Amino acid sequence: MSTETIFTKIINKEIPATIIYEDEDTLAFNDINPQAPFHVLIIPKKAIATINDITPHDHALIGKLYSVAAHLAKEHGFAQSGYRVVMNCNEDGGQTVYHIHLHMLAGKALGWPPF
Ligand code: 5GP
Repeated sequence: MSTETIFTKIINKEIPATIIYEDEDTLAFNDINPQAPFHVLIIPKKAIATINDITPHDHALIGKLYSVAAHLAKEHGFAQSGYRVVMNCNEDGGQTVYHIHLHMLAGKALGWPPF
């Protein structure tokens, strides 16, 4: 299965996105259809289709996604008030783009459960 998605084009700057963080391994940008006042997608530059495709080789990279979330939370003032990170997997999980991404949602009291 090809892992080339719209996010590959965002990584390669072939289509626009509001990028708020970038390093050699990861990218964070505003979700085009925000579900909270702050809704950012944090992605690895490596194309991994789903959580099921993560290998032991990727463990540090996956951990880095959470470190980026914590960095953004501090930078944008949500570290204390709180925020949510979630990664959807496959159809029943609500995944629509097959390049793994952490949704980071903040800026209001978020409901739970999320359905
Ligand atoms: P998923 O449903 O796979 O968990 O999340 C995919 C997310 O990507 C959705 O929240 C959707 O709004 C966002 N998205 C899809 N296409 C684009 C795009 O071209 N640009 C940006 N910034 N976000 C997108």
